[in-house]
Amino acid sequence: MLARSMTGGCTDLVNFSFFSKDRPLPPRVRELLDRALNEPAEPVDEQVVSVVAADLGATLGCVQAEAMELARREARHLPRVEDGEAFELAEKVQQWLMDTFIDTTWPACPDHPNHPLWLSDDKPPMWTCSRSGREFCQLGQLATVVSPTPEELAAKHERLAKEEAQLRAFLQRRRLQGGQGQA
Ligand SMILES: [Zn+2]
Repeated sequence: MLARSMTGGCTDLVNFSFFSKDRPLPPRVRELLDRALNEPAEPVDEQVVSVVAADLGATLGCVQAEAMELARREARHLPRVEDGEAFELAEKVQQWLMDTFIDTTWPACPDHPNHPLWLSDDKPPMWTCSRSGREFCQLGQLATVVSPTPEELAAKHERLAKEEAQLRAFLQRRRLQGGQGQA
């Protein structure tokens, strides 16, 4: 069982006895943990990362380095595609923000704030309203069309920071326990 966990991701480790006194992990934390523990085989395309990071920075109140790191983490585990990596990465980030409840309508439509924009599969992909069909901007250009208030940005960034702190604490605990647990 332990041997399998070396190659099969973290699921077995999470279920392993030294975690049993902790409350059960939400599935998305397991997924994040799994990603964090399995280092990438492929380098990421920094150009693609920076495009998606720009949109994260414009909407979540994070500074560029933080947005880059978040986007890079998601990018590390994308399957390699010839073209359209930015599209894939943005969709992955959208899913992550929804799963973690950091922002369930990311990125919010400027015309209808209760629903997220979707990305067209044009080249380049366009952030588009699903209701009116209006194309707002290219992926990476959200800063030109959204204008969140400082309070909105601060609230989102706080949720984001809490999520990240939870993940870091868990990884730290796992490293400590993993060190003791090695035979
Ligand atoms: Zn809309």
